Amino acid sequence: MIILVINCGSSSIKFQLFDMPTKKDMAKGLIERIGEDDAKITYKYNGEKHVEVLPIKDHKAGLAKLAQMITDEKTGVISSLSEIEAVGHRVVHGGECYNSSVLIDETVIKGIDECAELAPLHNPPNLMGINEAMSMFPGAKNVAVFDTAFHQTIPDYAFTYPLPHKYYEDYKVRRYGFHGTSHAYVTERSAELLGKPVDQVNLITCHLGNGCSITAVKNGKSVDTSMGLTPLEGLVMGTRSGDIDPAILFYLAKKENLKMEDFDRILNKESGLLGISGISNDQRNLEDLQDTNERAKLALDIFDYKLKKYIGSYMAVLNDVDAIVFTGGIGENGSLTRGKSCSGLEALGVQIDDRKNEETIRGKEGEISKPSSKVKILVVPTDEEGRIASDTYQLVK
Ligand code: AMP
Repeated sequence: MIILVINCGSSSIKFQLFDMPTKKDMAKGLIERIGEDDAKITYKYNGEKHVEVLPIKDHKAGLAKLAQMITDEKTGVISSLSEIEAVGHRVVHGGECYNSSVLIDETVIKGIDECAELAPLHNPPNLMGINEAMSMFPGAKNVAVFDTAFHQTIPDYAFTYPLPHKYYEDYKVRRYGFHGTSHAYVTERSAELLGKPVDQVNLITCHLGNGCSITAVKNGKSVDTSMGLTPLEGLVMGTRSGDIDPAILFYLAKKENLKMEDFDRILNKESGLLGISGISNDQRNLEDLQDTNERAKLALDIFDYKLKKYIGSYMAVLNDVDAIVFTGGIGENGSLTRGKSCSGLEALGVQIDDRKNEETIRGKEGEISKPSSKVKILVVPTDEEGRIASDTYQLVK
């Protein structure tokens, strides 16, 4: 069964074509800067790479270009769009309505639209992708895979904020958590690597990319996670602050006459590694400069310290931890961050192997703890697209 996976952002479409159930990667690509005259397409197929810059006015035009490339005489991998039996869509927010992936129908479309209030930057482009795919691939079934679904098992005492309860009752203000597809994938893969059934595995999964979140997984299910109502809460991120004292906002509002929109921009786009260092949101750039630039070093120190605090608190949540799992661009490559966040936890049964840690980079899967470590430390490259394809296959077959 040929399955197309689509991840529509506000100005981008990431896509991958799979042959299921073998999960064979047939083609994949990214269309960026949609809406601009210099939109960029990166398309990989049969070991070849095709890059093109051209005007793409909207998502409809982007999907039409995708359809043309995958069926083209030269770059194509299928001969007709009718070969695509299903389309799996990444949807960021499923609110409290969806605790697993679903076949899309009119009710689901309405549900995703209702959740748009909670994710105004993400759900509208996700919906646009769904609507366009439905008309472009009329014979295909469509499946929604939600970032929030994996975290719907979090108990009420962990998802409820200590605010007047009416805000939950009236507006559903609560912790939802994100990166669920990634946390779910690395949970399943880690269980395989540990040789345990997934419903018996206790993990702390760290998804560290430009956005970062950490999840406590008990018996294969999410029981707590660091992101909240929105992806702003929790760990330090590339440009997002993560946890701060909310009263800082009242204080700064008075000092600098700042408005809500200013805080939205400051906390989401101007904080985190970029805000502290004043240099970059990219961990690699800061690592290159940390010996000569104090603020680059401080940014990395704060990032690693916060991560270590969360790891420690989730060890308390879980008590018996099989493994700490690293994924995402920093989790898969950042041996310095892995080393610093796991050091000094020997009393809690965590012993990192420095040599294995340094060697496990660039998409390599592996165990980086010492054989004597009670809690294993694993690196598992994430595969969100593959997980979306698997869910889609399961629902459609
Ligand atoms: P992602 O959002 O998953 O693509 O991850 C992006 C983050 O991964 C950026 O902060 C990159 O600097 C970081 N990253 C990628 N490769 C490395 C590396 N070799 N060492 C440290 N960080 C890396």
